[in-house]
Amino acid sequence: MTTRRRFIEILPLAGAAALAACSDKAPPPPAAAPAPAAAPAPMPAAAPPAAEPAQAAAPATPAAPTALVDEKDPVAVSLGYVPDASRADKAKFPAYASGQLCSNCALYQGKAGDAAGPCPLFAGRLVAAKGWCSAYAKRAA
Ligand code: SF4
Repeated sequence: MTTRRRFIEILPLAGAAALAACSDKAPPPPAAAPAPAAAPAPMPAAAPPAAEPAQAAAPATPAAPTALVDEKDPVAVSLGYVPDASRADKAKFPAYASGQLCSNCALYQGKAGDAAGPCPLFAGRLVAAKGWCSAYAKRAA
C-alpha cells in the first residue's frame, strides 16, 4: 500500500502539473513571497524640546544700605550709639575718649571721606563717620 499512499500524496502536484502541461496557458506564477512585515509605525513625533529654562538669574547683589542707624534703635541704645561722638554718654560709657569716631574704628567699613558707612553691628544700615558706640575699637594704623 505504500505505492497507493505515495500516489495520493503526490496526486495534487502531479495533477496540477499534468493540467498545466495540457493547457496552452502559462502556469500561474508561484505564489508571491509573503509581503515583508509592515514597516514599524513611525514613532510619534517627538515633543518639541521644552523651552530652555530662563537663565538662572544672577544672584542678586544686596543693595548697599543707605539708611542711617536711628540712635533710638534698641541695639543702638544698648550700645550707646550716637551719630555725633561728642554726644556720647560719658557717664554711662566712661571708656569713651575724645577723638574716638566710627571713621577710625576697626569695625567701620566706610571709605575715607564718606559721611557714613556700614558697620557689622548694624547690618543693613549705615553709621555716621562721626558717630560712636561703646563697641568702639581703635583701628590699627
Ligand atoms: Fe561706630 Fe565702631 Fe561702634 Fe560700629 S562699632 S558703631 S564703627 S564705633
